[in-house]
Amino acid sequence: MRLKDRVALVTGASSGIGEAIAARFAAEGAHVCVNYRPGSPPDEAAAKRAVEGFGTRGIAVEADVSRREDVERMVAETVAAFGRIDIAVNNAGIEIKRPFLEQTDEEWHRVLDVNLYGAMVVSQAAAREMVKQGTGGKLIFVSSVHEDIPFPGYTSYCASKGAIRMMMRNLAMELAPHRINVNDIAPGAIATPINRYVLEDPEAMKNAVSEIPWGRFGRPEEVAGVAVFLASDDAEYVTGSTYYVDGGLTQQVTLY
Ligand code: NAD
Repeated sequence: MRLKDRVALVTGASSGIGEAIAARFAAEGAHVCVNYRPGSPPDEAAAKRAVEGFGTRGIAVEADVSRREDVERMVAETVAAFGRIDIAVNNAGIEIKRPFLEQTDEEWHRVLDVNLYGAMVVSQAAAREMVKQGTGGKLIFVSSVHEDIPFPGYTSYCASKGAIRMMMRNLAMELAPHRINVNDIAPGAIATPINRYVLEDPEAMKNAVSEIPWGRFGRPEEVAGVAVFLASDDAEYVTGSTYYVDGGLTQQVTLY
């Protein structure tokens, strides 16, 4: 058990990558706060189902990461339930496809509020607790290969993920004296609900897979494995880095 008795909070943990990270953390002995967004009965049901499987080591907490009061309540509920917080995984994220010339302010702010502001405020609330505890901690961001490579039609998403990369690097420096490790996981194409539109379209799937050297989509569990490493003592000297989990996608350059 690599995370025995650690306390972790995972945002957007009712589906996809977040769900897999929460399950793997629990299997590694952690106490886990499974966050789900308000106003979605399927997310609420999935989060509650997940924590049933964790026994007394899980709580499901409804919170919109883009609202500071929700986030502060969620961190307080985690500390009230388990006495501390050691690991925060900023996984919640959304994307809206929109050609740049048609981009609305409302859509821009929605994506940046959830993906970037949400990650900032969760990190800040968790890090303040970690500093108070005085025993270090781990902040992990689930960013994207699109923190680095362009994705036409998704400017707000790319802007949010690129900004997460720089925020992660800054926090790694500011929080190093407190022994808080800060790292990014940048997934490539992972089979989760966010990619439903590709997964359900055989032609789009064929095109997408042809761009991936490994020849297939990744599985959420393959991202969770890297999250366990970054949350564990094995990552003691690892901070300020991006870990790509992308089957080689970012290395793919097609010239002909
Ligand atoms: P997903 O849609 O299953 O997961 C996103 C989760 O975020 C959902 O559970 C959703 O309810 C939650 N969420 C959305 N808004 C929220 C809010 N305001 N407050 C709290 N939770 C909220 O898709 P996923 O692929 O598991 O995505 C997880 C993360 O991985 C996202 O940040 C996404 O950008 C990133 N990512 C995914 C892929 C991929 O190919 N699947 C690739 C790169 C990065």
